[in-house]
Amino acid sequence: MALLDAVAVSVDPDNGFHAEARALNARYGDLDAREVVALAVGELFPGSIALVSSFGAESAVLLHLVAEVDRDLPVIFLDTGRLFAETFEYRTELANRLGLSDVRTVSPDPERLAAEDPHRARWMTKPDLCCHIRKTEPLARALAGFDAWFTGRKRFQNDVRSRLAMFEADSERIKVNPLARWSAAEVKEYAVRHDLPAHPLVAQGFPSIGCVPCTSRVRPGEDPRAGRWRGLEKTECGIHTGLEADGSGI
Ligand code: SF4
Repeated sequence: MALLDAVAVSVDPDNGFHAEARALNARYGDLDAREVVALAVGELFPGSIALVSSFGAESAVLLHLVAEVDRDLPVIFLDTGRLFAETFEYRTELANRLGLSDVRTVSPDPERLAAEDPHRARWMTKPDLCCHIRKTEPLARALAGFDAWFTGRKRFQNDVRSRLAMFEADSERIKVNPLARWSAAEVKEYAVRHDLPAHPLVAQGFPSIGCVPCTSRVRPGEDPRAGRWRGLEKTECGIHTGLEADGSGI
């Protein structure tokens, strides 16, 4: 499908973002990742889409794809206050390497932290609340004014994501998942082909990297996200729960 066939999609809350996502999947769901990034940035959501990146283990691939289309695209990085020092170093290294000019670091509201997590221990007692105040709330503030955002999620990462669509909806905007259909091997091959640096913790047994208290090493044979919230039912931080909430996100 030629990208020139694309028409601007007006995000009309009255029509429902889920209907919007279904229409986008029907028309553009078979495009490859590079085409989807170019389409979303240039045609579907010009000036109103951001990339949300954890600068984690597999973040470099989507950051590279986006940088090839628009190095000035806003990149939102959530500093939860509980990240690994290596993640900050990696953010700086990757941003410089890819020439990203608009990396925005967003943080939790200090008053909310003081009220809800004064001892920095909510991750043990109420991890959903911890994720809400450290991730969901800051991200909602950062995405205000955007109609859409890119995520780097992939179907292979776990069962919950196994039906991930290219376009999804949440209550306020469209999520675009250019790498949804990529395999782990394709991600690795792309990173090698483009000589992208790896997150320093990958070599230490962390194929998925989030906050320090909720990330553990993954053993051979486990799924790549098995080390996230190990021992809990929790598999997502709350910013992607729309997928589970409506079954498929489309
Ligand atoms: S991943 Fe853990 S430490 Fe980070 S915000 Fe969620 S519960 Fe809190």
